[in-house]
Amino acid sequence: MSSIRVRFAPSPTGPLHIGGVRTALYNYLFAKKHKGKIILRVEDTDQSRFVKGAEDYIIKSLNWCGINFDESIVSGGNFGPYRQSDRKSLYLEYANQLVKNNFAYYAFDTSEELIEMRDNMKKAGVPSPQYNSITRKNMQNSLSLSEDEVNKRITKGDDYVIRIKMPRNEEVKINDLIRGWVSVNSNNMDDKVIFKSDGMPTYHLANVVDDYLMKISHVIRGEEWLPSAPLHVLLYRYLGWEDKMPEFAHLPLILKPDGNGKLSKRDGDRLGFPVFPIEWKNPETGDISSGYRESGYFPSAFINMLSFLGWNPGTTQEIFSMPELIDTFSLERVGKAGAKFDFDKTRWFNQQYLRAKSSEELSEKLQEILKEQGIVKDNKFVAQVCEQLKERATFVNDMWREGKYYFEAPNEYDSKTVRKKWKEDTPLLLMEFKNKLELISDFSSENIEFSFKEYLQEKDIGMGKLLPAFRLSLTGVGMGPSLFDIAALLGKKETIFRIESAIKNII
Ligand code: GLU
Repeated sequence: MSSIRVRFAPSPTGPLHIGGVRTALYNYLFAKKHKGKIILRVEDTDQSRFVKGAEDYIIKSLNWCGINFDESIVSGGNFGPYRQSDRKSLYLEYANQLVKNNFAYYAFDTSEELIEMRDNMKKAGVPSPQYNSITRKNMQNSLSLSEDEVNKRITKGDDYVIRIKMPRNEEVKINDLIRGWVSVNSNNMDDKVIFKSDGMPTYHLANVVDDYLMKISHVIRGEEWLPSAPLHVLLYRYLGWEDKMPEFAHLPLILKPDGNGKLSKRDGDRLGFPVFPIEWKNPETGDISSGYRESGYFPSAFINMLSFLGWNPGTTQEIFSMPELIDTFSLERVGKAGAKFDFDKTRWFNQQYLRAKSSEELSEKLQEILKEQGIVKDNKFVAQVCEQLKERATFVNDMWREGKYYFEAPNEYDSKTVRKKWKEDTPLLLMEFKNKLELISDFSSENIEFSFKEYLQEKDIGMGKLLPAFRLSLTGVGMGPSLFDIAALLGKKETIFRIESAIKNII
């Protein structure tokens, strides 16, 4: 097989939705698996939809995800430039070649004339009027006007576009790697504009020309581009490149959690989860949309979750590192059906990754949060906190939120637990138990537990009589990791201080 070259070709029209990241990921996995190259090409030919900051956002997002490109606007490469607006001068030649070979034509119609044509057609009972092999005859173009008139208009500097001359009644077929044969009759396709009056090609022409010039072997992109594929096939044919045409693979949509339609930003807002990899600030409104990075996800967990939205390994294994994904991924195992987004599963992935990390690694992240809070603690202590909390956390931030008591004595006590568990005789029991704790010389979890149980026996009371009150004293809450571990980590002095404070403060 000739060398594998794929591209991710986003348009900088806003932040990159997770669907876009998934497309980039599958391209990346496919390229790496086949020892090929992946290219990042920015498709910015539609200047009216250009959004400031979007290009930078896309690069930062993919970088965070660990999706690296062999050729791009940043790293360059032998097939550049990699931004279509920087390739502007290149496309007209191909558009003109199509006109010369009678596969495309100049069209001078003003927007008023186009509206009029559509209105008239609608009145005549055509529900979705198109500029096509029938209507073009009555429009202002180089097929309906005389050669003289066309030349006159061009010399005069009239605005014109170039449209593809869609053939009448021809089956256009493509063999999609995921969907198999797809066939569309050209009667259902219109004479799409391929070159605009502003001197820029449209997406279709630029995309095909660049895929050809950049020697792209496989076009792996979202299902929303499937309707454009037959037009692209015709462009390859008319430009004489059919034998160089890449293979196509159209990826299934990412659906809303209930499966009803495509996942949108609004679903994320409504259901409370991010749909963007990193936070996005709308440059016009200043509105902030949350990102997975800022919500505390590990990029590896995010990528692992995304990999399963449309693909599966055919085994029960769910946790895959990037190298394992590269090894296992194949387009054959990408399904046709839309993939439902599952936010609980997304959280689950993060939890699995958190648990798999060493306490030392987690402590580095927790230290960042502590620093923001102005708390200084040595790494060994913080790592032990992580060790105790990691089974109970989904995000590093959970360890701070739920484990504040490791770093500062509680200044309030959970009222429900107080009401239920703090009885009249509790202060006395706690005081006596505290006196026993004072006698422990090696303040280890085991020794504390031993002393605790011994005290229960002496008093002939059950756990429930003392443990919740002990916990309240140390943590201010009714639940958490092993209390003996907590006490041992806090140390004797702090444990005793907290018990005394609780006796004083809880009434
Ligand atoms: N520029 C298109 C987009 O924004 C690329 C589609 C394709 O990959 O051909 O998604």
